[in-house]
Amino acid sequence: MKIETIAIHAGNQIDKGNKAVIQPITLSTTFERAEDGSYPSGYIYSRSNNPNRYSLENVLAKLENGAAAAAFSSGNAAGMTVFQSLDPGSHIICPDDMYHGLRNQLKQVFNKNLEFDFIDMSDLGLVEASIKPNTKLIWLETPSNPLLKITDIAAIVTIAKKTSVKTVCDNTFATPVLQRPLEMGADLVMHSTTKYLGGHSDVLGGALIAREANEWWLKLKQIQEMGGAVPSPFDCYMTVRGIKTLPYRMKGHVENTVKLADFLENSLQVEAVFYPGSASHPQYEIARKQMSAGGGMLSFLVKGGAEEARAVVNEVKIFTQATSLGGVESLIEHRASVEGPDTKTPQNLLRVSVGLENVDDLIEDLFIALSSISN
Ligand code: PLP
Repeated sequence: MKIETIAIHAGNQIDKGNKAVIQPITLSTTFERAEDGSYPSGYIYSRSNNPNRYSLENVLAKLENGAAAAAFSSGNAAGMTVFQSLDPGSHIICPDDMYHGLRNQLKQVFNKNLEFDFIDMSDLGLVEASIKPNTKLIWLETPSNPLLKITDIAAIVTIAKKTSVKTVCDNTFATPVLQRPLEMGADLVMHSTTKYLGGHSDVLGGALIAREANEWWLKLKQIQEMGGAVPSPFDCYMTVRGIKTLPYRMKGHVENTVKLADFLENSLQVEAVFYPGSASHPQYEIARKQMSAGGGMLSFLVKGGAEEARAVVNEVKIFTQATSLGGVESLIEHRASVEGPDTKTPQNLLRVSVGLENVDDLIEDLFIALSSISN
């Protein structure tokens, strides 16, 4: 099946009783046992599983072409489960512009029992040189947040495999519509489904999808179940609903972002644009190799500093100044101020999640806002 068909059908089950075409939300936390004590429906208790989560995990696994998926209450909960699965003293190699929420988890929660290095993943020599005897994991995020840097997934997997180091790829920005890391050999894909998969900025969620349902996978599942980092049936329903239109939404996000990037590249008030779909992007060729398009996110540097960048976000009318991404509405954000004092993000950087409005309106909105700072 092609991805558009998977997105619509793999997360849905026609109700066996009343034949409802759309799977109902099963709120029950517990499921009836048979006389012999077994569980005829396959469900026991909703921290372990429930019908809506089952459907969501089914569509997630198929979208990423994985062997199994686990749906979480947030992207951070999914990431935390991966870190919890590592033995004390394990070393992790991470991107230097890793999503700040996960970077902070490592620095503030796991600092006593894990070791980690944040490095420039586009430097393959550096990645190889950073592997130590206790390195267990390489964390990839491509495109990265917020600099839209591209990491060569296949090349990193090759390096990791030499010493049996596992690879996890945060595929939130690309989505399985544009990039499938498991097919390039990654062991695990992670998502904040809060973003494009949910797609409407109204449901928090996360996911892990495994290339193989191996021993490590069982451990990840065990940690999740024991910790209860699970989404509610309603959250699962909402995410499944969002996923149905994901392939078509991504086409619109890409189309708008290509045009917006082109406009920004030609704007006199803009110093630089970071968009992996633009030929000017330093890793454009790698992006072309592993992504079918550049995605719906871009960042740009406003000429000037934080003051000028903040003036732009305060001037726009259609873009909303807010964090997060992947919804149908366009968002713009002064990224350094949300990332906190240890951020390396340039002070004049604005990150844009390009929505599905008419792109001419988006361009006009940014044109007026950028013009205001040059007056
Ligand atoms: N990974 C990336 C790339 C993100 O952008 C985010 C959230 O912004 C996360 C992970 C964390 O996801 P959540 O907010 O669902 O916990």
